[in-house]
Amino acid sequence: MALIVQKYGGTSIANLDRIRNVAKRAIRVYNAGNDVVVVLSAMAGETNRLMELAGEIADDPSKRELDVLLATGEQTTVSLLCIMLESMGCPAISLLGYQAEIVTNKAFGRARIVEIRADRIKELLGQRKIVAVAGFQGRDQQGNITTLGKGGSDASAVALAAALKADVCEIYSDVDGVYTTDPNLCKKAKKLEKISYDEMLEMASLGAKVLQIRAVEFAKKFNVRVHVRSSFKEEEGTMVVEEEKDMERLVVSGVTYNKNEARITLTKVPDQPGIASRIFTPIADAGIVVDMIIQNTRKGGLTDLTFTVPKSDYQKAMAIQKEVAESIGTEQVLGDEQIAKVSVIGLGMRSHSGVAAKMFTTLAKENINIMMISTSEIKISCVIEEKYTELAVRILHHVFGLDSS
Ligand code: ADP
Ligand code: ASP
Ligand code: MG
Repeated sequence: MALIVQKYGGTSIANLDRIRNVAKRAIRVYNAGNDVVVVLSAMAGETNRLMELAGEIADDPSKRELDVLLATGEQTTVSLLCIMLESMGCPAISLLGYQAEIVTNKAFGRARIVEIRADRIKELLGQRKIVAVAGFQGRDQQGNITTLGKGGSDASAVALAAALKADVCEIYSDVDGVYTTDPNLCKKAKKLEKISYDEMLEMASLGAKVLQIRAVEFAKKFNVRVHVRSSFKEEEGTMVVEEEKDMERLVVSGVTYNKNEARITLTKVPDQPGIASRIFTPIADAGIVVDMIIQNTRKGGLTDLTFTVPKSDYQKAMAIQKEVAESIGTEQVLGDEQIAKVSVIGLGMRSHSGVAAKMFTTLAKENINIMMISTSEIKISCVIEEKYTELAVRILHHVFGLDSS
């Protein structure tokens, strides 16, 4: 007998037929004698719909109230699933984040899980119930409802699997595994049988939304076996595991893209000590996470500074920089939302040179201009014009030998 956590994403529970399908899958595993915890997301599109509703009332709605609102998406699905399970004769109970004692910090909209007290879930499993937990949500120390950020129900599932010492955490979505790149963008993407935590971490942080990055962090830290698979098919998906000695170390093992960032440039910034701090401190104080930064020195003690921020924080960051620009005497603040970051990833890069050169040459051959570059020992990212994303992903996937035959 095993303890299995199954997490189903929005498309897998988009309507009652699909919720019935999920119920059948859970019952099958339960009837085989296993303990089953099901973690659910909201129905596909629901979180965005709720966000837009609030947006119709206010430009910057209260973050606390927004979390109370967004959490209803997952409340709907867990209750519907339990009604479905009971109607099929299977004992079940739903728990919201706070009832499952998923305790987070108080960063509304992007809270981090700090603790899970799994006693109540264990007790309910002991009564042979399927426990359905609302993903994406928790509560802070004061009891306020918090949400974990886009794709956050993956993190709920893996964290619960860690707290419950589950045998496996299955992540069900509309793809049947982790591919060398987004299979919806590139038909030649190849499904991976397994992928190491480190490569998955890199893929997730660089845009492969099939698994949320926090979920992979938890999995690696607590050694949770994660199985990414499809709710519409029976076959095995991809196992996310510790790096193994016999793992094929391809120089490049994946290509990702991220269209969720925007670029801000300050021109003719005085090239003096303390200026970068005056530019980035107010951004940090506003809780905005800066990704890439480049500086180009000009003549005459001036420099241009370009950096990227999440698109969702773009307006706020622009407003802050306009004020900063005035106080430090910068010429202009320019913004660009039509950008994409394309990355190639591979553990094998640690011991290989020439990957960056090959990436730049490939993009140049297609006349794609590179606006920014960043590298680490296992990835290279280039910011390009958004309209070339698909072309760049396909051509890089091809030249690095990843295409399926
Ligand atoms: P869910 O709503 O079930 O959580 P998501 O939409 O968050 O599902 O994640 C699944 C999607 O991730 C797929 O539809 C696919 O387009 C996208 N994706 C991006 N990169 C990859 C990749 N490398 N492998 C598989 N899927 C990927
Ligand atoms: N419903 C949330 C979202 O849309 C959580 C999730 O899907 O994982 O991001
Ligand atoms: Mg997701």
